[in-house]
Amino acid sequence: MTDINKIKKWIDEADAIIIGAGAGLSDAAGIHYSGEKFEEDFKDFIKKYGFKDLYTSSFYQFKTEEERWAYWAKHIYFSYYERKNTDLYRKLYNIVKDKNYFVITTNTDGQFINNGFKKNKIFEVQGSYSKLQCITPCHNKLYDNEKTIKKLLQNIDENLKVSSSLVPKCPVCHENMSVNLRCDDTFVEDNHWHKMEKDYNDFILNSSDKKVLLLEFGVGFNTPSIIRFPFEEMTFMHDNFRLIRFNDNYSLVPNEIKAKSISVSDSISEVIDLLEKLCRGKNE
Ligand SMILES: [Zn+2]
Repeated sequence: MTDINKIKKWIDEADAIIIGAGAGLSDAAGIHYSGEKFEEDFKDFIKKYGFKDLYTSSFYQFKTEEERWAYWAKHIYFSYYERKNTDLYRKLYNIVKDKNYFVITTNTDGQFINNGFKKNKIFEVQGSYSKLQCITPCHNKLYDNEKTIKKLLQNIDENLKVSSSLVPKCPVCHENMSVNLRCDDTFVEDNHWHKMEKDYNDFILNSSDKKVLLLEFGVGFNTPSIIRFPFEEMTFMHDNFRLIRFNDNYSLVPNEIKAKSISVSDSISEVIDLLEKLCRGKNE
C-alpha cells in the first residue's frame, strides 16, 4: 500500500492544490458506463439498438429526434441527475475544503459541483450533461436542462420515443439542440467556460512562487493533453510543484519528475477513504 502518511504530509505542506480529474475518478465513485446497472436501466435500448455501454451508445446515429431525445434523457439522468451525490467526491471535498484549491476536469457528470466544490473553482473543459446548446450552434449560450430531461424521461413511450412536441428546440433559430459535450467543433464554450479557463490559468500563474501540489485522479490516455501532460510539464518546469498521480492502470510518471512525484496504483476509493479519515483526525 502506498505511503498514505507521505501523501497527507504533501497535502498539509501545500499552499495551493490543483485537482485534475478524469473518467477513472467517477468510475471509482461508482458511476459505471457499463455493467449491471447499465444493463438493467437500458435493457429496452440494448434490445432495440444493441448498445454495449454508455460511451459507444452516445455516438449512435438515431433516425429521428424523438428517438434521440428518449435515449439522451435516459443517458443524462443515469449519468448526472440520478447520482448527484457520491461518497467519494464528498470525501475528496473534505480533504481539500480548507485549502486554496482549483479543479480541472474532463468529466461532464457534475460531481465536483454537486458535492461541495465551489462552482467558481471548477473548470469543466469538456462541458456538462446538465446543459443544452443549439446544435448548429447559432449562438453561444447554454441552457440548464433538469426540467426538460425529467419531463422527457416521463414521456418515453413503448417504442422508445418521446412526442414531437417535447423535442427541445433552439429558442433563437428553432433548430434542434444538443447536449453540451465536446465531440466536435460545434461544442459551445460560453462566457462561463471562458472565465473558468482564464481563472484556471491565473490560478497557476499566481501560484508560481508557492508550494503547489497537483493531485491527478484517474486520467488516462483518451485526452492526455488536457490534464496529464500539462501536469507532468508543470512539475518538471517548477521547483516548487509536486505531483501525486492516482491511477489504477497508468500511475507511472516520467523519470525526470520521479523525485517530485508519488505514483498511486491502489484503488482510488480506498486511498481517498483513508486520506479523508486522516484529515478528519486532525480536526477532531
Ligand atoms: Zn440556434
